Amino acid sequence: MKVFKFGGASIKDAAAVKNVAAILQRHKNEQLVIIVSAMGKTTNALEEVVAAHARQTGKARELYDALKERHYAMMRELFDEGDEVFSAVNDTFVEGEWVLDDKPADNYDYMYDQIVCVGELVSSRIVAAYLNKTGMATHWLDARDVVATDNTYREGWVIWDKTRANAQKIVPPILAQGSFVVTQGFIGSTTENFTTTLGREGSDYSAAIFSFCLDAESMSIWKDVPGVLNADPRLFENTIKLDRLSYKEAIEMTYYGAQVIHPKTIKPLQNKNIPLYVKSFLNPEAPGTEISSDTEDNYPPIVVVEKNQALLHISTLDYSFVAEQHMARLFRKAADLRIFVNMMQNGAISFTICVSNVPDRIEQFIKEISDEFKVKMEEGLELITIRHYTQETIDNLKKGKIVLFEERIRNTMHMVVKNVPVIERREVDIAGSKS
Ligand code: ADP
Ligand code: ASP
Ligand code: MG
Repeated sequence: MKVFKFGGASIKDAAAVKNVAAILQRHKNEQLVIIVSAMGKTTNALEEVVAAHARQTGKARELYDALKERHYAMMRELFDEGDEVFSAVNDTFVEGEWVLDDKPADNYDYMYDQIVCVGELVSSRIVAAYLNKTGMATHWLDARDVVATDNTYREGWVIWDKTRANAQKIVPPILAQGSFVVTQGFIGSTTENFTTTLGREGSDYSAAIFSFCLDAESMSIWKDVPGVLNADPRLFENTIKLDRLSYKEAIEMTYYGAQVIHPKTIKPLQNKNIPLYVKSFLNPEAPGTEISSDTEDNYPPIVVVEKNQALLHISTLDYSFVAEQHMARLFRKAADLRIFVNMMQNGAISFTICVSNVPDRIEQFIKEISDEFKVKMEEGLELITIRHYTQETIDNLKKGKIVLFEERIRNTMHMVVKNVPVIERREVDIAGSKS
């Protein structure tokens, strides 16, 4: 069996859903588990609903109803009036309404997961119904019956043994009947049957969880790009498609923020040697990128830009050296607050970390260590990672920038630079070709 994953862009409207069905027609005779994200930007819209509900602005229901209407408008293009999918989708939306009718829960993250899951629950209903309608027998599966997590809301940790047992019990009998399985990405369930989410963009990871647990032959993620490129095409021109990547290379890229694949996706696949194909839903016949076992590959420079970074220069109040016990405390605190340290450097009396800037968490961090440390913070920075760097690439990327700190380890270079505002696409040829 194989696992396919379709992200938000691939099912953003009725035409896109039809395109997905056309892709699946070509795989009609295969055993497929199909993971879908919420449609288009639904998760962002649901995040606004949650925020409005938490703040009791009175706007939550209005925002939610607008989102519902967008789904119904799309469904009217795909189904006849009276099709049973309308009531299935409606029932799911009603579950979200129950949460909104209650007063906001004290635990924001818990409440977030109970509402945001609606996006994937309805998109999967729609896709499954459309596949059935177009002659592909499809079974809708609730991913929460398979993916077991702890109760870390918004970042559920997978309980692998349990998830694997669930998957192996539930999925193969359905596939054996000749049906596709359509299920949700991004969501799981606690032992008490509360919904969890796996972190934003987590549907790629869900696909890897199913692939791992079911020993899939391969996994394919269908994107709006021809495959993995050597840089984000929204930021750079003249990007090159990578035909093949090793797991190791893909882990490095995604760890440093290449948004094309969720960072947790690759490891489970590597552990079982399951190849991952990144393919274009706009050009399904094209080969895309294959990510598989490590071989000696020749890579061009690969650039990853992670925006919204902050540098925290931390020093002791009494000007003593920053010693190991200080660092132990700082890292404990960062871990507790789920602050991700992307780079660090220690001097005699100060210690500098580069972190993804999540304002409320960083504020909390600074407050909680203020008895012992003072912190100077620089915001609005970018962390640029270059794998397989050449001097030419470095020079090009540094143009017009102030480098605050840089580090080279073997074939990887990291630099924290001041952001250049406004310019969205840089006229820089990262490959260094003169064409
Ligand atoms: P999905 O719809 O599956 O969630 P995403 O939007 O998360 O897809 O990922 C695809 C996007 O990732 C592309 O549209 C592209 O802009 C962006 N991207 C960032 N870095 C890269 C890269 N190195 N190669 C390809 N795409 C990239
Ligand atoms: N819908 C979720 C999100 O937008 C998960 C995903 O698309 O991967 O974050
Ligand atoms: Mg994504």
